Amino acid sequence: MSAEEGGCLCGDIRYKVTGQPERITVCHCTFCQKATGSGYMVEPIFEKENFETIKGITSIYPHTSKGSGKKVCVNFCEKCSTKLFLAFERFPTVVGVYAGTFDNPNWFKQTSQNTKHIFLSVAQKGTIIPAGVDTYQAHATTNDGRAIEPFIFDTPKKISK
Ligand SMILES: [Zn+2]
Ligand SMILES: [Zn+2]
Repeated sequence: MSAEEGGCLCGDIRYKVTGQPERITVCHCTFCQKATGSGYMVEPIFEKENFETIKGITSIYPHTSKGSGKKVCVNFCEKCSTKLFLAFERFPTVVGVYAGTFDNPNWFKQTSQNTKHIFLSVAQKGTIIPAGVDTYQAHATTNDGRAIEPFIFDTPKKISK
């Protein structure tokens, strides 16, 4: 299996993943908007056993999720403040990588089968949601783990407010 690396702006923190992500979440929630300072987070999800920090030690900001009450731990570089990945109290076996921190952010396969867009209800005005992918107004599952029915657009959808 191929290994891909990424790291922070200053280079103090480096990580490595093995194999393709389990799935990719494109998250438009307000937590991700604040944490990225941008429109949304592109978050490939890896099993913890396929993810490894290979240089440096991340600092951790534990954020309590408003929805679930569970901790989401933002792992970042203390020196340059780049956010590298998330770890979850709710999903302890996986990490969610900030895709833009990969040396090549285009290496993983993003398809309509493995990608979903969540929290469209709070997506920024003007954001384009692609056609043919599963979308959700908020989470894709309920707090007790039941799947929510996705909505799929036939043509790209521009968020208007
Ligand atoms: Zn750094
Ligand atoms: Zn989010």
